[in-house]
Amino acid sequence: MILVTGGAGYIGSHLVMALLEKGQNVIVFDSLELGHIETIETLQKYGNLKFIKGNLRNLDEIRGVFMSNKDIEAVVHFAAYSQVAESVKNPQKYYYNNVYGTLNLLNAMLEFGVKKIVFSSTAATYGEPEYTPIDEKHPQNPINPYGNSKLMVEKIMDDYDRAYGLKSVRLRYFNVAGADSKARIGEWHEPETHLIPNVLKATPDKSFKMFGDDYNTPDGTCIRDYINVEDLAQAHVLALEYLKNGGETNFFNLGTKNGNSVKEVFSVCEDVKGCEIPLEICPRREGDPAILVADNTKAKKTLDWEPKNDLRYSVETAYHYEFKNKG
Ligand code: UDP
Repeated sequence: MILVTGGAGYIGSHLVMALLEKGQNVIVFDSLELGHIETIETLQKYGNLKFIKGNLRNLDEIRGVFMSNKDIEAVVHFAAYSQVAESVKNPQKYYYNNVYGTLNLLNAMLEFGVKKIVFSSTAATYGEPEYTPIDEKHPQNPINPYGNSKLMVEKIMDDYDRAYGLKSVRLRYFNVAGADSKARIGEWHEPETHLIPNVLKATPDKSFKMFGDDYNTPDGTCIRDYINVEDLAQAHVLALEYLKNGGETNFFNLGTKNGNSVKEVFSVCEDVKGCEIPLEICPRREGDPAILVADNTKAKKTLDWEPKNDLRYSVETAYHYEFKNKG
């Protein structure tokens, strides 16, 4: 049995689908504050999925999960807040949830002898890039509370390995994109802040806001590394296998090694939609570095991972999901 925290959310739900399709039994623990019960109901059609509503900030709730499910072999931990701007305004919320909540999870794991965890970390732990593409040796100097909260958890995990033998794989995501290939699940954030869904959702009344076209990049817009959500889910499956096979604590960048500018993403979206998308050029968004691209060599070598889907595929699946579910 695999326990997935935050399995009703965007990335977590795609991992749950991948695990269920492999015949794996799964428990999802999710507060449903940001995740959706509809996502759980969809996932339950595809395998043996037990859902437990609860919050990691409540130690007893997460202890109860381990107490009544003695066959949990490993945990994949997605549950977290992840909006950079919000974390700057309200760091308390981020540290309390992302750090304290994770401490409760880790302590419950240790109490019940579960010592394998795959953790959703982020490129935001690197902070302002000193070189590109970013490999795992790049210094980790986050520039906002969100990145700090994720880096703190990474450090806690190192200490818990040394002291208690807890083995962790930390996956540092770059820009996650796309939806399930059959449009069963997809990206569903309220409010939506991410590029691709915002471009696809734009209407003549609510045009897409492009944050800055005066960066030091070839077309003036920010460059990001868009990694397909199903490829990302596959990396988690491989990380679980790595731990199951006795792998040591480790950390990997998950990206494609290819950068695309905001303007390039915008034009792929127009192409996929087959129409012009209303566009408004706005000032830069605070805290956006010009270029963030992953060196993914380590994940490819150690986990035998290979991202298969390109940006266009991610946009197509995101569009199909949006169209199917919300017209
Ligand atoms: N972006 C934009 N308009 C939006 C959302 C995002 O121009 O409505 C830009 C943003 O400034 C960044 C890129 O798109 O350069 C990716 O942003 P996103 O929020 O998707 O991911 P992030 O890079 O912040 O993790």
